Amino acid sequence: MAIIVENINYIYGKGLPEETYALRDVSFTVEEGSFTGIIGHTGSGKSTLIQHLNGLLKPDSGKITVGGCDITSKDTVLRDIRKKVGLVFQYPEYQLFEETVEKDVGYGPKNMGMTEKEIQQRVREALDLVDLPFEEYGSRSPFELSGGQKRRAAIAGVIAMEPEVLILDEPTAGLDPATHRDILDMICRIREQRGTTVIFVSHNMDDIARLCDRVLVMDEGQLVMTGTPAEVFAQSQKLKDIGLGIPEAGELIEAMRRRGAKIEENALFPEEAAEIIGRYFRKQAGTKARRDNTDSTGAGMRRGASAAQETDTEEECTGMEAQNPEGGADGGNETC
Ligand code: ADP
Ligand code: MG
Repeated sequence: MAIIVENINYIYGKGLPEETYALRDVSFTVEEGSFTGIIGHTGSGKSTLIQHLNGLLKPDSGKITVGGCDITSKDTVLRDIRKKVGLVFQYPEYQLFEETVEKDVGYGPKNMGMTEKEIQQRVREALDLVDLPFEEYGSRSPFELSGGQKRRAAIAGVIAMEPEVLILDEPTAGLDPATHRDILDMICRIREQRGTTVIFVSHNMDDIARLCDRVLVMDEGQLVMTGTPAEVFAQSQKLKDIGLGIPEAGELIEAMRRRGAKIEENALFPEEAAEIIGRYFRKQAGTKARRDNTDSTGAGMRRGASAAQETDTEEECTGMEAQNPEGGADGGNETC
């Protein structure tokens, strides 16, 4: 289900001395089936923005269309929209309240007026998707679960509504690395099995690069950049200026450039960085091997000069090479 946001503005405490302009003229489109990441420093308006997408907040001006329906219109029944657009708040486990996991996850479907049988079916499927099998966890108190399990149970409560769009506000905040991975795997599983459109707020640039096909960058209530992860993270200085970073792999390539390496490409993933760096050092080794070879032929200055020329045009020759004491023909071959 596509979402179209057009020129929305939102002010908290409008007219009060402490009024806050939280969103300023924000426009974007979320394509059906896409995985959209939202990044931005704390207070940039991310949570305010996503609460507009299922009608929890209403913009002071502008328009939001969800699956062709104008949710900013007075006639729209927001209950219907909230079934289609599921919102997982930050730290959703704080909202667990029922005595058993089964009841908690079934709360939404029950409110939708489903039969007991349908509710059970929804609860089972949702618990399967979050990897908390019904037989083992259904009758347990949500408060006895571990931190990660609580979060997954809370997410199951939203999944049980079978939303067409799933929005998650910093779903991995405060989790250990293993649970962090579990939550991301779970989101991917839901998307694969149900074709759900996902919107994901995160401060983790590696996750954004790996999962998303589109990124929205918020700053001071404004949408300041959009694009694929490659397009957005290529603008690292602009991101740094607004207090954001880039994926670790990109940081590594930038660190090499700062030390003199002429590397044009950017990396989003460790494997990509390894490829780029490997290629760079192979080129360096090749250049050195040719130079050493030329020098040892005794052909003199003439050939040396032409080799150097070749180096400048075809191969990158930088300060990094001078810092690599293991050059030479043999070293180069080993590297290759
Ligand atoms: P983010 O999720 O990016 O951290 P928020 O959407 O929570 O940003 O906040 C955007 C701005 O709105 C901030 O200046 C924040 O202080 C303000 N704000 C958020 N929620 C409220 C609220 N309930 N009442 C008043 N101001 C708020
Ligand atoms: Mg927030």
